[in-house]
Amino acid sequence: MPIDATLPYDDSNIFARILRGELPSKTVYEDDHALAFHDINPQAPLHILVIPKGAYVSWDDFSERGSDAEITGFVRAVGRVARDAGLVAPGYRLLANVGPNSHQEVPHLHVHIFAGQPLGPMLVR
Ligand code: 5GP
Repeated sequence: MPIDATLPYDDSNIFARILRGELPSKTVYEDDHALAFHDINPQAPLHILVIPKGAYVSWDDFSERGSDAEITGFVRAVGRVARDAGLVAPGYRLLANVGPNSHQEVPHLHVHIFAGQPLGPMLVR
């Protein structure tokens, strides 16, 4: 079910549980501000999710309430994960869904990294 990105943060969401170590994930990268792990249902040969460690519902919430240190740390982590995976030369796609029209399902900000093959048009037509 798509979520309403204007609702307050819900601490019981699945990525909050991964951050607390209550659920497993295939970790790719971790630092003070971000955790990156493989998507459970990959939509490309390589499909990684990068999430901030803070409690933010969406890109909208994070860009409004996140501290400069959190935002810098998170953006740098996304770039580093892609670089470390060797994705810059072949190319990759970043995606962050916000709210119902984008079909955001998990109410904790996550940036998708898709890679591993030509990814086709940006949107289904
Ligand atoms: P959204 O539609 O919210 O942008 O994307 C949510 C993503 O989270 C989906 O690609 C989905 O496969 C992934 N996902 C949902 N539950 C889990 C989980 O428990 N573990 C992992 N690793 N990914 C999940």
